[in-house]
Amino acid sequence: MISAKEIWETALGELQLQVSKPNYQTWFKGTEGLAYDGEQFLIGVPSDFVLAYLKESQRSLIEKTLINRLHHGVSVRFQVSWAQTGQNNPQNRFLQNKSALYGFNPKYSFDNFVVGGGNRMAYAAAVSTAGPATEQRYNPLFIYSAPGLGKTHLMQAIGQKALENNQRPVYVSGEQFTNEFVEAIRERRTDEFRAKYRSVDMLMVDDIQFIGGKEATEESFFHTFNDLHNAGKQIVITSDCPPRNMPLFQERLRSRFEWGLTIDIQPPDFETRLAILQSKAEQAQATIAVDVLDMMAQEMKKNIRELEGGLNRIIAYAQLLQTQITPELAIKALKDVGGVRALPETQGGCQGIIGLVADSFGVSVEEIMGRSRTKEVAQARQMAMYVMRQQSKCSLTDIGTAIGGRNASTVSHACEKMSQDIGNSFMLRSKVEDIQKKLRAKPS
Ligand code: ADP
Ligand code: MG
Repeated sequence: MISAKEIWETALGELQLQVSKPNYQTWFKGTEGLAYDGEQFLIGVPSDFVLAYLKESQRSLIEKTLINRLHHGVSVRFQVSWAQTGQNNPQNRFLQNKSALYGFNPKYSFDNFVVGGGNRMAYAAAVSTAGPATEQRYNPLFIYSAPGLGKTHLMQAIGQKALENNQRPVYVSGEQFTNEFVEAIRERRTDEFRAKYRSVDMLMVDDIQFIGGKEATEESFFHTFNDLHNAGKQIVITSDCPPRNMPLFQERLRSRFEWGLTIDIQPPDFETRLAILQSKAEQAQATIAVDVLDMMAQEMKKNIRELEGGLNRIIAYAQLLQTQITPELAIKALKDVGGVRALPETQGGCQGIIGLVADSFGVSVEEIMGRSRTKEVAQARQMAMYVMRQQSKCSLTDIGTAIGGRNASTVSHACEKMSQDIGNSFMLRSKVEDIQKKLRAKPS
């Protein structure tokens, strides 16, 4: 069999004839064929810059050229080459190429996952699910949490372990699954779609909530789930809330989600936050005083993605100013972008939600916060509380405060009522779906 390297070299020969010389020199020189599995082709490129350009502007030309060579449909992935990342161990390179080919980020490994209060159970379940079949396995493994607490990281770690064990995992987001399904229908390729998802050893769907309420996609996922489960294949699912709080899904799917093990990740405790910061600082090869890390761990409590983002900002800031990282510098770096001390992220989140709900119902934010009892306003208010609750970042009391000083039992009642109403009304269902989609599209 000819190697990815050789295939790419002949493809380059062809590309050279198809693009201008300067173009070729700038974008194609220094690229290499890294891996090919019969369907996906991984191309190594010299920099992020080249990667972005080729992906955006030359993907279809490249795919066409490869298809000419291979007489076979192929989808292309790009990755910055190992020479640039300093990864020289050939065995690691081989595994990491394979990982990238399957859409995994090598950073998201079990080794890089800090175990502590909040995620210990989820970690243990993930490790045993990734292990050899003799280990205790839960099928499906369903992991849920608020954003930024490590669901994607754990899921990808499971998938990469499975790859090492020569299993064939498929990793998709709920959104990708939906898009692929819609495309397959449009292009009358549903058989191919079905075959792709039935032929795997392990199916991983990240952020499944996206599929909820999209009836045909949900139906297709339901059958895929059944076939794989019957065949004893492992299924791993993540979501932003537990199955019982997913009103957009049909009951039969919700109950299947609970067949195996359903487990949540809670926000990390202080010690775990500190350990995560230390580990990330070490990975970034940055020296940061303990009191700076301590301060960050004190202030940023709810979301590890934010913790990581804050750390990266501090490191970038210090590099820019070419100074040491002191607590003062850290506060300044984080403050400039509304970080530390300006962090009542729940409030910001709540206000964002109220705004989106107000738009969706055609009422004003003031009306939602106020005392009006007209039907639209009351319903919008209930919806706002319901969505805030779903985001599960806010307590009932927090929500009550954010919505204009209401007490926790009012909030609880409103959420229950809305949950029922959503079950009975197509209009409300599509509204909540739309709002949640917009929330997800916001950078978190
Ligand atoms: P989610 O999918 O739950 O929104 P992610 O898995 O994307 O969250 O995690 C957000 C970021 O936080 C990622 O960069 C991830 O590597 C990091 N992260 C989350 N949990 C941990 C952990 N326990 N140890 C190390 N890094 C973590
Ligand atoms: Mg995620």
